[in-house]
Formats: sequence, structure tokens, C-alpha cells
Amino acid sequence: MDIRQKVDLLCQRMHDVPQYPSQGAVLFVDLEQRTTRRKYLSIEVLRTFLGGRGANMYLLYNLLQEELDALDPEIPLVFGAGTLTGSMPSATRGNFTSKSPDSYAILDSNGGDYFPAFVKRHGYDHIVIYGRAARWSMLTIAHDRVEFIDASAYAGLDNLDMVSAVERDFGCTERKDMAMARITRAGENLALCSGIMGGIKSIWARGGAGAKMGAHKLKAIVVLGKPVDQEEKGALKAHNKVIGRKITSTSVIKNALKKVGTPFLYKPSRVLGAMGALNNQQTTWHAALDADNFDPYRPGMDGCFKCPVHCRNQNDMLPGGKGGWGAAALKGLDGNASYDKAQAQVEHQKLRTYRGIRGDDVYDKYDKGDGPEYVTLGKFGPLIGIKEPEQVLRLNNILNDLGLDSASTGSAIAWAMELWQRGIIDAKHTGGLDLSWGNYPVIEQLLFMAAKREGFGDTIADSARAVERGKYPIAALEYCMAVKGLFQSDPHDARILKAFALGLSVATRGMDHLRNRVTLEINARINDDPEFKAALYGGTVSALPTSYDGKENAVRRCENTFAAGDSVGMCRFNTKLFNSPTLPDCDDFAQQLSSLTGEHFDAAKVDNAGRNISGLEHMLNFRLGLRAKDDTLPKRWFEEAIVAGPFSGEKIDRVHFEELKGRFYRLSGLNAEGTPALAWHEQLSRTTTGFCVRVDLPRALPGAPENAIVIDEPVSNVTDLRRELKRRLPEAAADLDDKMLNVAVNGHMLLAGEGNAALANGDRVTLVPIFAGG
Ligand code: SF4
Repeated sequence: MDIRQKVDLLCQRMHDVPQYPSQGAVLFVDLEQRTTRRKYLSIEVLRTFLGGRGANMYLLYNLLQEELDALDPEIPLVFGAGTLTGSMPSATRGNFTSKSPDSYAILDSNGGDYFPAFVKRHGYDHIVIYGRAARWSMLTIAHDRVEFIDASAYAGLDNLDMVSAVERDFGCTERKDMAMARITRAGENLALCSGIMGGIKSIWARGGAGAKMGAHKLKAIVVLGKPVDQEEKGALKAHNKVIGRKITSTSVIKNALKKVGTPFLYKPSRVLGAMGALNNQQTTWHAALDADNFDPYRPGMDGCFKCPVHCRNQNDMLPGGKGGWGAAALKGLDGNASYDKAQAQVEHQKLRTYRGIRGDDVYDKYDKGDGPEYVTLGKFGPLIGIKEPEQVLRLNNILNDLGLDSASTGSAIAWAMELWQRGIIDAKHTGGLDLSWGNYPVIEQLLFMAAKREGFGDTIADSARAVERGKYPIAALEYCMAVKGLFQSDPHDARILKAFALGLSVATRGMDHLRNRVTLEINARINDDPEFKAALYGGTVSALPTSYDGKENAVRRCENTFAAGDSVGMCRFNTKLFNSPTLPDCDDFAQQLSSLTGEHFDAAKVDNAGRNISGLEHMLNFRLGLRAKDDTLPKRWFEEAIVAGPFSGEKIDRVHFEELKGRFYRLSGLNAEGTPALAWHEQLSRTTTGFCVRVDLPRALPGAPENAIVIDEPVSNVTDLRRELKRRLPEAAADLDDKMLNVAVNGHMLLAGEGNAALANGDRVTLVPIFAGG
């Protein structure tokens, strides 16, 4: 069945009018045929998966042809704004979802700024893109008016120039009466580490979203016109005030995020010895990159749509540029020193010494910008051997313009540098570039080369797939810091923090902290209060960061909360458990969902929706061929102990790790292959595809440890079912081909005519061995 047939089938199960008051449409966009259609999801989707990321997974599950390459235009790229996006403080977010071209898992990338709220307020909850445009195209959306525009004139433009060109040509201003999701040259050139830009810095970064959009020949989605004003009334308005106060009165928000942004995390991480440096060969780095060393270049903060936090630290290194915002904000804050309280008093008196990147008083547009986030600071600081704040700032500004995911790009460069250090690659591979640690001019050059796929930049653009694409010898894989093919998102080295390690291994989009990071494990105060910690995570969690005990409880609770948070559109920074235990939680989301949609929610229902979302993601990953063995960690973390900080000597013990993972699976309701166990799978199938046939097997087969499997895509007869079984369980194809296996449907043995033996939703099939002999 091709994508258009799949869309037709799905639309038959959708509605022509909204199913609850605040619901927006799903806009299906066929770029090849230049057609659109609007439909509305059923209320059952809201109840089971909420909106945004959750409903995106529902759409992808129904439309996916998993056997196709991720960049095939038959694989849809789905955008979804959260159910509460634009209607709750800090709910600014939305997700792009697909099969990832960068990793072996789902692509699911979350971003904020103004685009998600604009899409929602123009009447759409989701945009489903498929087909490849004949030439570079742009989609403009202005309420009911959706147009396909020739974007040939914009091809080749990077982020900053693209915004200027669209503002000029359409007579609009980004964030006032226009919001845009766009790709840069990196996306056009299918760089796997490219993202979709949603602002000067905002990016849908992980998983190669830029390349995916580029493969559809879609340069931008532009929402034109001011968003409709939405008057907040009654309970929604009253509780928004409570949520706003919760956010702005939280210490970490008030004292750190609003003053210096996420770089405040750098100090506790390096003090702990949990900072990945030199491609994780080391785990601490120089104090020169502590957040206060950026003070002289920080003129202020920026923020997303109506967010009260404004966490986005700006930078300005130009002559006459202002600085000093947030100076000394972190001094004396114990929480920012974590395991070494004396560090709280350390203050750097960094001066404004920048005179152009070559020290020759020559400046350009990359000497001013937005950021960096802690991830970019870590990846373009310690991970690649940089220790000058000015160099980090400039690389950050270049990454933003080139539309590159700083996590994957930084990791790809760090990987290359370690291969260079070890002599696994040399100047023949790099085209003469010297990949020594911290070689700033080469690193800057490499970013432009990656965006253009030029020279050795072509290898960097292949991200963690460089071996698979024949760019590196197989020995290079030993040093690849990726899980499920996705480089690690955050700069933390998780050999100390076993809960972090579990989270990175089971995260559904690859090695990524934003799915479930148990950030409070790094907070000494939380660990000093075991009872508080147990109440927070709904189960006993060891107070020792290095222990494996109970860490499954913490990761599970975070996964549920964060999946629900993404699906209502809440920013992770202001979600309970990520930065603080006092931030808005599932109960707050439930109250606002009830007020806005009219459908009753409580905290338990929202938490369960979070679990359902991650369950459906595990089902998608199973279809993509991922199994329990893929929920793992880089080899280095099992084999090399760290040598810095108070937890020197720590690494990951394989046996304890596998036991912890097993406990996590059981707590989550996953089977031994890491996908929802039968009863839960049946339940999710009934909502997602409306089809569910359980097939009992004669014994446990590879990929089916429960002696049974659920077929959740419609099959019409037993011959089709046999084909589908092999597609779902390719590792068991030989067993399933066994001529001695007969089929019984609802207890009735079929002796002939399997092609005519119809199957319907709810049927139960058994594969029965025929025993021969006399
Ligand atoms: S906290 Fe920061 S990233 Fe999150 S919505 Fe607010 S401004 Fe945007």
C-alpha cells in the first residue's frame, strides 16, 4: 500500500469537523501532486496519546512503510503542535516526527520559538507532508488558505538570509505576523546532522529533520498573518496564573535560567567529573567555560511565544556590543556547585577581550547571536578540545546559521578527532585538514564544508553513519559515542550517573537525554533526602548516583511526564523533574486540558497517556528493526573507568546494567525485546490502527519472547497474515516458513485454502505444529 492509499484509509477513520472545542485540523499535504486535505482526529486519540508528539506517533504508525529508506518521500514528515501550545505559560512547543535518516530509530524532534503557536492559532494541530515537490517549494499557510510557492529563489540560503528574504518578499516580520520552519543548505544537501530551523537559534535538531525536509524538496513552511488572539477565561485563566507563578518562583528558573540560561549546568557537571571531554576520553574540563565567563558578552535574554522565562542567553562580541546581563547571578548558589560546595563561591572576572576571531579587529555576522545552550557549549567546548568562550560563541552562531544540530555535528567532529589521534584516519581521509583537538580554524571551516557536503565535510555530514557509508574503516565504530545510530545529545558522561545511563540507552529516539533525563540525580540536596526522592519518583530510588538500585522508577516517571509534557506542548525546562521538583506537572496539564478541551483529565490519565506514547514509540522502533540489544550504551562506558572527580573509578557494569534494564522493561510493561507486552500492545493497536489479531506461536521465536505476537495492520486473509508475520519478525522468517506449521483461526484448524480464509479485527490465530510419525 503506498502513502496515498494509506492516507485515504486513515482519513476514513477521521472526522470532517472538530471533535472538541479547541481542536485544530490535520492538514495532509501532498507535495508531488500539490493537493491538500483537512481532517480531524478522533477524541480517542486525545484520550490515549494527547496531541503533539503523541498524536504524531499515531499518525506515523498508520502511515509508515518501514521498509523504505527514511529519505524516501513516501515516508511522511509529520508536524504536531501540543494540545496546550499557545494556551499555557511556557507551552510553546511542537514536534517534527518521522523515520530518522540519521539514526536507526524514529525521528522525533521538539522545538519552540513561535512556529508551533502560530500553526495552532491558524487552525491546525498537525501537518502531514509526503511526496517530493518537482522543484524547491514553500508551503504558505494563512488560516484556510494554503498555497504551494516556487522556492527556487530561496534555494541555497542559510538561516539568517532566508528570514530576511521571506520578510522582504512577503512584507512581514518573523514573530510578529510570520512564523517559519525552514531548512538551510545543510538540509538541502541532505546532511544527516541538519535540523529544521524555527528561529535564529531554535531548531528541530535531532535525527536529521533538516535532511528529511530537504528530501521532500520543501524549503520552508511559512505561517503568514498574526495569530488569532485567544482570550483566556475561567478556570484556564485562573490556573495559568498558578502555573506562571510556579515557574517564575522556582529557584533554578529565577536564579539560573532567566539570568544565564542552560550553560549554568556546565560547572556542576565538570566538578562532578561527568563532563564528556575529547570524545569522552576524559570527563572534566576547564573552568574557563563556566557560565560566568560568558558574562561580558551577554547583553540579555530572549524567549519563545509568551513564555515568562526568557531563558535564551544572547551574545554580542562586536565592538560596542553590550554585556553583563546575569553577571554574578550564580555566585554562592550551592545547587550550581553540587558535590563541591566551595565551588559556589568561585567567581571568574572575565574581561571583554575579543578583537575578532583572528585578533585583527575584523568582525562579521557570526560575532553576534543567540545562545549557546549547554548542549552546544559542551559539544563545541570540552568534547572537541576548545576552551575559549569566544570560540564557543562564534561556533554557536555559525551552527545556528547553517542549521546544524550541535549535538550530532559536535559528536561527529569529536569522533573524527579521536580517529585522527589514534591514526585510524589521516590526511588522506581529511583532505589535508589537521584534526588535532581544539584546532579552531579547522573546526570552523569544517562546519561550512559539512553544510555543503564538500571534501571531508561530506564525512561529517554522514554523522554516525560514516562507517556504514564507507567513509571510515570498521575499527572506527569502537569510538562512536552513539546509541541506535544517534550521537549523544547532552554533554554529560553518564558512567557515574546510572539513571542517566539507563535513560540514554532506552530513549526511543536514540542516545538522547530529553526523553527521560533524571536531572535531579545530579542534585546533592535531592539525594540527601531519600524519602522525598521516593515520593518524587513513585518508588524507592537509591540516594547514591552510582547505584543501580531503583533507578528504573526514576526513569519511568520521567519518561511518562516528559512524553505528556511534549504532547501538550510544554517546554522541558519548565516541566517537573527536569530542572526542579516544583515545576508544573501532570496535574497542572490535566487541569488545563480539561478546561480547554472539555474532556475530563486527571494526573493519572495524563501520566498514563505519557506511558502510552512511549509504548507506541517502542512499537514503531520494533517495526524499524530495533530490539532489546539496541537499548545499550557505547562500549567505552562499559570498559573504561573515569579518572576524574569524586567518583573516579566508575564505569558501567554490564551485568548490573542489563538487570536494571530488565527491571525497567517490566515496570514499563515492555516484553524482553523492549516492545509493549501482548495485552498492552493489543490495547494500543485497537486505538491506533483499529485492527488487532493475536497470533499464538508454537514456542518463543526470535523477536517474539512471549510465544505470541500481535499483528496490528489490517490483513484480509491467512496468506496475507503469513506474509505480515515474516515482515514483522524477519529474524524468525525461517521458523515461520516451516511447512509443518498449520493455522487455526479462532480454534478452527485450516486444512486448505488459506488465501480464502478471511481474517477480521479481534480474531485469534494459532500456529500449530503438525506432528508426523507412526
Ligand atoms: S523556557 Fe526558554 S526555551 Fe523554554 S519556552 Fe521559555 S524561552 Fe523558550
